[in-house]
Amino acid sequence: MRTLGLIGGMSWESTVTYYQRMNQQIKAKLGGLHSAKVVLHSVDFAQIEKLQHQGQWQALGEILAKAAAGLESAGADCILICTNTMHKVAEQVQQAVSIPLIHIADATADALRHQNISRVALLGTRFTMEQDFYAGRLNQQHDIQVLTPNQAQRDKIHQVIYQELCVGQIQPESKLFYLQVIKELHKQGAQGVILGCTEIGLLVKQQDTTIPLFDTTLIHADTAVAFALK
Ligand code: GLU
Repeated sequence: MRTLGLIGGMSWESTVTYYQRMNQQIKAKLGGLHSAKVVLHSVDFAQIEKLQHQGQWQALGEILAKAAAGLESAGADCILICTNTMHKVAEQVQQAVSIPLIHIADATADALRHQNISRVALLGTRFTMEQDFYAGRLNQQHDIQVLTPNQAQRDKIHQVIYQELCVGQIQPESKLFYLQVIKELHKQGAQGVILGCTEIGLLVKQQDTTIPLFDTTLIHADTAVAFALK
């Protein structure tokens, strides 16, 4: 089995899900006492969040690149950045190591293709919904059309992520709000919805709606497990 290198802590609430899912999947596939081989570099998210909102992406890239290099020296066979947003600096991170970086948007695109979905809605932080590093990649590299919520909805979605989900708060009214946005985007033609922030799956789950949801945390973790067992 190969060793998975995780850059986590963004936030740790979702890194817990990654760790749990990877171990559950390895157990399901190999049985017995088998568990995932993982090296984790977990950051202080307060520092990361501050730099994000100051627009200091070069500095953020350096922090994550250094973490990735450390994971490689510790024996990791691949790198996972356990957040959608920080894939903004994915290239900088990949350049710091000689092992592959498993890109969360590529893993998600594969899952969409599997279900023949070519027009999808994207929920995530404002960075993920509004900048080109994520939707642009889905569109240009995978031919997937991406719809996003309107400005006021994006602001609220972003606020719920940082002020509630990343500090472990699950609020019923925020869940209703997210489900309402999902419904509207479906009406606008989205065949499915990407939960493009690794904490959204803590709030909204597939059993809450009939619209197909693509939980990037689970998809990313499952893709990593497939790599570990290849
Ligand atoms: N975990 C979130 C994401 O997947 C947001 C936290 C962050 O900014 O990294 O985008």
